[in-house]
Amino acid sequence: MKSQSTQDIAVVFEQVTRAFGEVKAVDNVDLQIRDGEFFTMLGPSGSGKTTCLRMVAGFDRPTAGEIYLHGVKVTTLPPYERDVNTVFQDYALFPHMTVGENIAYGPMIKKMPKAERQQRVNEMLDLVRLPGYGARKPSQLSGGQRQRVALARALINHPRVLLLDEPLGALDLKLRQEMQIELKNLQQRLGITFVFVTHDQEEALSMSDRIAVFNQGKIEQIGTPAQMYEQPATPFVANFVGTSNMVKGELAKQLTGVDQLYAVRPEKIHLGVLTAPPQPDSYAVAGNVLDVVYLGLYTRYLVQLDTGDLMAVVQQNLETAAVDVHAARGQRVQLQWSRNSMLKLGAK
Ligand code: ATP
Repeated sequence: MKSQSTQDIAVVFEQVTRAFGEVKAVDNVDLQIRDGEFFTMLGPSGSGKTTCLRMVAGFDRPTAGEIYLHGVKVTTLPPYERDVNTVFQDYALFPHMTVGENIAYGPMIKKMPKAERQQRVNEMLDLVRLPGYGARKPSQLSGGQRQRVALARALINHPRVLLLDEPLGALDLKLRQEMQIELKNLQQRLGITFVFVTHDQEEALSMSDRIAVFNQGKIEQIGTPAQMYEQPATPFVANFVGTSNMVKGELAKQLTGVDQLYAVRPEKIHLGVLTAPPQPDSYAVAGNVLDVVYLGLYTRYLVQLDTGDLMAVVQQNLETAAVDVHAARGQRVQLQWSRNSMLKLGAK
């Protein structure tokens, strides 16, 4: 057993490494996922997220370190001895079975009596808003409906931890956004710990209680969506979660007096004419507009500062039309942003 507080902690990674030959897919990761939390592993392709999930499920084992589920060491236990279920990106439904048979698969393996099984299947179909769909084949469903069947098939086993590996990756944007809300609601209603893997930062921000950002097998930062966005710890996080302008070197020295590394979000910068009066507690710098991209709701400007640094600025098109914003190309402008918007990054 681990320490006394482990009841509140669903998943613990203790110095977990998974090496494939020379490649460390997961490199000395420490992690604690709280019971009942919606926890997201976010990172680019190849950063080690899926390998972490597979080790929680028991499909893979660490080459070093230990994994605990609700205080019990499971590092070497097979998948069926762990109280977890996985939903995969491709859903992995059995095509020859009906929806009902797919969902009943786990209880059937466990030899649950047929009547009870059927009742549970119906409950699950209601839960994922597919009542009456039990007799259909997966091929007769839309992508979003198949996704819900995959969820029902995992949830019927009442796992304490549900692992979701890019479960919305195959859906188009609109459906994905709907399913994000649905998944979050479901998780809150059931109170189960969800461990969700994605490379989509918006998805991570919109659904998670906490996020771990992965980069090259290591965790760069763990925190709430707001912390990730408002207090990124490293340049990698500042750029992977949203976009950032890096302020460093000569420009940082000119503004703050020290050559430190900072990030400024494009939407925090105000773009105005050179003669715009300085705002209190703000930085102001001059530059030329290199490029303008009109995006309907807002416009993205690329500005080259007199120091040579490039800065992206995003402004909402509140009272401006496309012709106005395009006229800014080539103009000399002043950028201003509040001191509070200058996010100090670590030494990494
Ligand atoms: P994706 O979003 O593309 O699924 P990921 O962040 O989930 O990426 P992993 O699948 O965990 O990343 O892979 C991490 C690293 O480990 C990659 O460099 C990958 O090539 C490597 N890797 C994963 N599985 C194996 C394997 N069975 N054999 C060799 N290398 C592997």
